[in-house]
Amino acid sequence: MKITFYGTRGSTPVAEADFTRIGGNTSCILVTFNTGRIAILDAGTGIRKLGNDLLARSHEQYDNIFIGLSHTHWDHIQGFPFFKPAYDPRRHFTIAICGKGRNTRKLKKIFSAQMHRDCFPVPLNKMGAKFTFWEPDITKYANRRGVEIVASKHNHPAGAYGYRIMEEGKTLVYCTDVEYGDRIDPNVVTLSKNADLLIHDAQYTPDELKEKKGWGHSSWEQAVEVAEQAGVKRLALFHHDPEHNDVFLLNMEKECQKRFPDAFLAREGEVIEL
Ligand SMILES: [Zn+2]
Ligand SMILES: [Zn+2]
Repeated sequence: MKITFYGTRGSTPVAEADFTRIGGNTSCILVTFNTGRIAILDAGTGIRKLGNDLLARSHEQYDNIFIGLSHTHWDHIQGFPFFKPAYDPRRHFTIAICGKGRNTRKLKKIFSAQMHRDCFPVPLNKMGAKFTFWEPDITKYANRRGVEIVASKHNHPAGAYGYRIMEEGKTLVYCTDVEYGDRIDPNVVTLSKNADLLIHDAQYTPDELKEKKGWGHSSWEQAVEVAEQAGVKRLALFHHDPEHNDVFLLNMEKECQKRFPDAFLAREGEVIEL
């Protein structure tokens, strides 16, 4: 499995020059399986370049591309109107939030709303590709190509989901937009158990976290705590705060590596092979 970070910023994209080493686009990750097939995690502004790259290399997976969402906060869906492959009538996408405990099923409505003509010139149903909106009440899913997915809900305003994706003995866990109370959520630790790579929300410093209760995010220290408890091999710090520039983040990374040497900042454009 290969992971490419297309968007690692949290909350809102940033474009200032001193933020570009780590990256300004919001959440979007490309997962390339050993079969060559792909899946996408979240549709933040990073999905624009992801789409352009797919077209540039004439990626031929027309039948179905899975786009798994952690949740539908704006920074996780706002790149979708600029995702060029979705304008190609030959293509089919499954846009999904998987997992138990969802109170409503309104994914299509949310995607349509952000493309309502008051917000955007092209409506969802005029993009061209076929879309299946899928919100299954399941925690486990396996496809016939040997990929298994486990989904688990975690605490965030309106809820969010983490995904454990396994192929040929390698495990990726994607867990962003998660806030803990006094202790780490044991479900997140179970989801992350022995992962080869854990991508985890690390928006705040421990000091900032004290001021941001109820905002729905973790500190890098909590990300490390999950990584330690779950015994993961590598930890990617993700969902960088839009007020943290490159220098700030690189210092945070150093601080974090003192405690967990295999932690690193998720950087836009970076590719990781598991
Ligand atoms: Zn977010
Ligand atoms: Zn969120």
